[in-house]
Amino acid sequence: MAVITNDEINAIRNKANIVDIIGSYLPLTQRGKNYVCVCPFHDDHSPSMSVSEEKQIYKCFACGNTGNVFTFVENYEGVNFIDAVAIVAEKAGIDIDKRKLKTNRVLINKDELEMMDIAEKYFQNNLKTEFGTTAMDYLNGRGINEDIIKEFGIGLSLDNGDSLYNLLLKKKYDSKKILEVGLVNDSNGKYYDMFTRRITFPLWDKDGNIVGFSARIYRGEVDTSKYINSRETKLFKKGETLYNYHHAREFVKNEKSVIVVEGFMDAIRLSVEGVRNVVALQGTALTKEQIVLLKKLHVKVILCLDNDNAGEAATLSNGDMLIKEGLEVYVIRLSGEKDPDEYILVHGINAFKENLKNPFTFFDFKMYYLKKNKDLSKSNDLALYINQVLEEVANTGDEILIEVTLNNISKEYNLAMDVLRGKLRGLQKDNKKEVKVVEKKIKEKKDAYLLSADKIIYFMLNGGAYINEYQKKLGFFEDALHREIANEIIYYYQRNNAINPADFISYVSDKETIKDEVMNIVSNGIDDDVSIEIMDGYIARVDELMVKNEIKRLKIELKNETDASKKIEILERITELKKSD
Ligand SMILES: [Zn+2]
Repeated sequence: MAVITNDEINAIRNKANIVDIIGSYLPLTQRGKNYVCVCPFHDDHSPSMSVSEEKQIYKCFACGNTGNVFTFVENYEGVNFIDAVAIVAEKAGIDIDKRKLKTNRVLINKDELEMMDIAEKYFQNNLKTEFGTTAMDYLNGRGINEDIIKEFGIGLSLDNGDSLYNLLLKKKYDSKKILEVGLVNDSNGKYYDMFTRRITFPLWDKDGNIVGFSARIYRGEVDTSKYINSRETKLFKKGETLYNYHHAREFVKNEKSVIVVEGFMDAIRLSVEGVRNVVALQGTALTKEQIVLLKKLHVKVILCLDNDNAGEAATLSNGDMLIKEGLEVYVIRLSGEKDPDEYILVHGINAFKENLKNPFTFFDFKMYYLKKNKDLSKSNDLALYINQVLEEVANTGDEILIEVTLNNISKEYNLAMDVLRGKLRGLQKDNKKEVKVVEKKIKEKKDAYLLSADKIIYFMLNGGAYINEYQKKLGFFEDALHREIANEIIYYYQRNNAINPADFISYVSDKETIKDEVMNIVSNGIDDDVSIEIMDGYIARVDELMVKNEIKRLKIELKNETDASKKIEILERITELKKSD
């Protein structure tokens, strides 16, 4: 399989001026040597985004969104890196071979992903045979028509235990690999299909590659689980994806929101009815990876989980996590039926849309939740309730919300405003203390060493002269992250004989461990002047701090060392370091 090379990606980036590309989406105004615009990635009221033509990088000074021309298109269009490359190429009038555009993940897992595609087609075809009649009746009975079956890749696994396995063998796939992707099970060395007599639903990763299946019974069977899912494989990791994410991405932008439901049937039902900005958790609790995916959408999140206690509790904990990550969160609680799928089947899509028009704010949902299961005519419960409300409202730091809430409580429970205000002030003081501690920690972390190390990395991205200077005068960093980035820069430069921040961003786009830090470093350097003299200043600082740390480390080692000759060795090393200091 041909791949688009780094050189080709760089050539595209080189030909596509970031000012023209961003300017094709948003009006830009020139200010000094940079351009500014209203940031499309947060609720911006003044032009917070700066675009550097010289460096071919953009940065929002309010929300921190940053990157090169591909990053912008990725975020703005809601597509992955490779699709962003294709869009930029087209806008810049560059012809590229579309077949070359595959992500690294696809290239590495070529056979595995092909097998999943074959399985999907095989299952889909089964539905159309004489064996598929009952399953088709079942699907049609639930309002799932041909178009939806096609769009969501719904299919059927057959009764005979190894038909898919044999098909894959015939196509020359290795039996071990078939087992590894979870399409078959191993029973004492004999392989048989993982899914039998079930309606199958493909599960995709964030880019739309099939990585697993979920399969449900349809003939009213008892004594068996309603759904079975692919086991964890190198392709499928539970909780790493959101069902329907790759479909929903293109719709969330228009709707300015994403609806989060529990089950994939809920997501399919809503899509069937034309509400397409929907993703499913495939469970109740949001995972770290899923939060990252939701953050990438840059829209408000509407939680619409099941109508049971678990769904309600998950709404609370998921909402709390999302708020902490700075997302805007709303809540819909449907009543009567157990989940959105059933609700829409019984009450129709318009009833759902009414709910969608007026979702609770997460704060209001929380207030409702705090009241639940408390008997507010009892003074104990009432006091607990009011204290909890005050704590929550103090956490928001929203002056107007605080005022409205205090007024409401005061009226509803006949409490003096002074008392409430006094209590609130106490809570706010505690919060401020906490914030200060956190801020101090952040500052300590970003100490002089890290700040200077960031700058050195930034200079290295500006050309071979700076890379040489680093190799000549410093050579390494004491922390693993900067060391890894520096090594990647050197490697990149050796291969390409040229380097600049914008191209290096493309290069690290699939290197998860260092990508964020590189973005940060580049965005903090957007207005920096670069010269060897300034760089030498940072190198001297880092060198001095690393020597100090090394001496500290050796002194501890010395204390713990019992062997006399080794003690002398350590002492000599310390004296040597002190001389150079
Ligand atoms: Zn912004």
